[in-house]
Amino acid sequence: MPDLDRFIDRTAPLRLLLVEDEPTQLLILAHKLRQAGYVVDTATNGRDALDKLQVGGYSLLLTDWDMPLMDGVELCRALRAAKLPNYVYTLLLTGRDGLDHVVAGLDAGADDYLVKPVEDIELKARLATGRRIVMLEQSLRAANEENRRLSVMDPLTGACNRRYLMDLLPREIERAVRYGRPLSLAMCDLDHFKRVNDTHGHMVGDEVLRAAVRVLLEGIRKTDWVARYGGEEFVIVLPETSLADAHALADDLRAQLQEAVLGMNGMAFPVTASFGVVGSEGAVIAGASMDDLIAQCDECLYMSKTAGRNRTTSQPLRSSQGASAGVP
Ligand code: GH3
Ligand code: MG
Ligand code: MG
Ligand code: MG
Repeated sequence: MPDLDRFIDRTAPLRLLLVEDEPTQLLILAHKLRQAGYVVDTATNGRDALDKLQVGGYSLLLTDWDMPLMDGVELCRALRAAKLPNYVYTLLLTGRDGLDHVVAGLDAGADDYLVKPVEDIELKARLATGRRIVMLEQSLRAANEENRRLSVMDPLTGACNRRYLMDLLPREIERAVRYGRPLSLAMCDLDHFKRVNDTHGHMVGDEVLRAAVRVLLEGIRKTDWVARYGGEEFVIVLPETSLADAHALADDLRAQLQEAVLGMNGMAFPVTASFGVVGSEGAVIAGASMDDLIAQCDECLYMSKTAGRNRTTSQPLRSSQGASAGVP
């Protein structure tokens, strides 16, 4: 069993929505629940409660059955149908004590069923059960989110990984084609990086790689993203960016890398990189594939390398199906 506790704060007070149409009962119960450590909000009918639940943030719901406008059982049904992003553990607290009522309440989506009048210690114990379930759900959701994040991230540099690139780039192309928008791609390869490893060792090489990616991440815009394509080779996806703008951005990144002193343990490691850029001048036309973008980007990168490195070469995207992509 993985350690799920590290994902959540078990000491944080839970928010509870108390729903009761009888004012005195509402006041007394709310007071007791606050004393028990819950952050309590109240509603006096199901409809009002549902509105509050939809705004979000509640982990527990303690609701009466008989109320005006929408009763507690209808509320349970509506809550489960609403498919909120987090689970709301729900307890029905009602004067109805028939077995058929209990079954109907649980069937509507309640997690627990209590008959009035309820002893304080029993109410607290039942809520504590709810708390355990809520904590379990929260930690599973957080662990899931963490797994998703790790599965798309390169562990060394924090850039997106190659798998993410291969999954998402086709979708970026599809979107650009469908909406008639521009899209560009830049590829960046560190120059003579082998020398860094050979001279200073792999650990230093790793640190320099991490620092180089920080420069790239800081230099791009919010909608751009960087993926590690290979060892010291990165792809930068630039949605909504024409070739000319992409060239300017890539060359700016190149200059920033050159100026950045990527240091470690008081030593500085100057690094340069070569860039290849391919992009549409206007909208990306249908037929351009991910393989086209990457292969043509790679061609440009190769030209930058052979022309002496530390430079940016770009060309308009061509579709392998013949047409030139993106000429307005
Ligand atoms: P060029 O200018 O032609 O790109 O020369 P280069 O030395 O950068 O290119 P080459 O492809 O010959 O070597 C890339 C080197 O990058 C090989 C390897 O030592 C280094 N490298 C690749 N991945 C990593 C990594 O994760 N960590 C470290 N420290 N080095 C890496
Ligand atoms: Mg009532
Ligand atoms: Mg290299
Ligand atoms: Mg390389």
